[in-house]
Amino acid sequence: MNLRNKDGYQTHLTDFLKYDILVICPKCSGKAIVHAGNFPIPPDAEHAVKLTCSACGYNKRLSEHRESLPSGSSVTASAGRHYIFGDAIDPFFFVPLWLKTDFEQHTLWAYNFEHLDFLRRHLEARHRERNGLNPANRSMGSRLPKWMTAQKHRAQILKKLDELQKG
Ligand SMILES: [Zn+2]
Repeated sequence: MNLRNKDGYQTHLTDFLKYDILVICPKCSGKAIVHAGNFPIPPDAEHAVKLTCSACGYNKRLSEHRESLPSGSSVTASAGRHYIFGDAIDPFFFVPLWLKTDFEQHTLWAYNFEHLDFLRRHLEARHRERNGLNPANRSMGSRLPKWMTAQKHRAQILKKLDELQKG
């Protein structure tokens, strides 16, 4: 499915899990990927969820993953397993994301380039909305934190997204 053809209105964080999530390799600190698939993950598909690093060969399946939940995170439980959304970590292995950067006291992050692209297009669309060119939408976008969507931060945030895009 091409996100470009999809209304931001229907887009949720979990939609980006069908693309590989870029994370920091727990072993070599290089760029590793978490391959997930459609969420929620059926128990019989858990073996397909894995964290792999092409640089050092690190390889871990979700079925081998022993959970140790970070405190203070909002946790989603599904089929006896816990997932964390809304932090700069992947929802499955809780490994720090590759695409993240500081913005003032906040962290700007994305699961992958598709997610990054969504954030950019959403911020641009919000700008157009303010100029009366688009109806307001009640999408995931409107659930983005205020600091991210604040008009005064727009130029800086877009610049940060550009930097991440290159990295
Ligand atoms: Zn590695």
